[in-house]
Amino acid sequence: MRPKIAAGNWKMNGTAAALCELDALSRALPENPPQVVICPPSPLLFRATDAVHGCPIQIGAQDCHTEEAGAFTGDISATMIADTGATHVILGHSERRDTHCETDADVQAKARTAWTSGLTAIICIGESNAQREAGETLDIIGAQLDGSLPDDVTADNTVIAYEPIWAIGTGKVPSIAQITEVHDFIRSRLTTRFGTEIGNALPLLYGGSVKASNATEIFAVENVDGALVGGASLKADDFAPIVAAL
Ligand code: PGA
Repeated sequence: MRPKIAAGNWKMNGTAAALCELDALSRALPENPPQVVICPPSPLLFRATDAVHGCPIQIGAQDCHTEEAGAFTGDISATMIADTGATHVILGHSERRDTHCETDADVQAKARTAWTSGLTAIICIGESNAQREAGETLDIIGAQLDGSLPDDVTADNTVIAYEPIWAIGTGKVPSIAQITEVHDFIRSRLTTRFGTEIGNALPLLYGGSVKASNATEIFAVENVDGALVGGASLKADDFAPIVAAL
């Protein structure tokens, strides 16, 4: 049985005042909640882990460097993230692949350092609109999986998030048939490479314009184990119904 996971990516949004949303979210969670992970901007990590102390909410970062420490101005390491009490780190988000030129090899190296620090890596993959229109979606997804996942992934150290770039922050959501096709493809690629035990145990999230109004039908897809949510994770009132739909 794979865990159900609702992950929120706050991106570059929120100051300390936004941490009240964590308190509101914890009060709005259902009785037996799925795994809930909120990824605020890094300056908020220490305070966020304090704010969720004793609640069933975990905290994650949005990126880490490939190295543990050193002369890398402005970057943060997995060790530093773990030191805040955070448990997860998002890696290879399309916004970082795009604006920070991150490659699959970078993502793979980051996953290894994240694991060394005991963090679970949430590894993102997804095709652009042009790639989908050219009929290249499954080739792109396959190549990103091959390049971004280290050989020794396990269901404890890795979560995979399929996020079509054209669906992120646009309000456009793939059809259920499109989500099903890609998630089934990812599952079979994982079982082929890692064997049925690990391949079937790795949690697989969908991300891109998930809202309370579309969460239920997306979560009904067999190989969708949860969601990575951007805009609708910023407010507890928007995110709690998504968590409840899992
Ligand atoms: P969105 O973002 O939910 O605002 O589309 C998802 C993401 O980028 O993880």
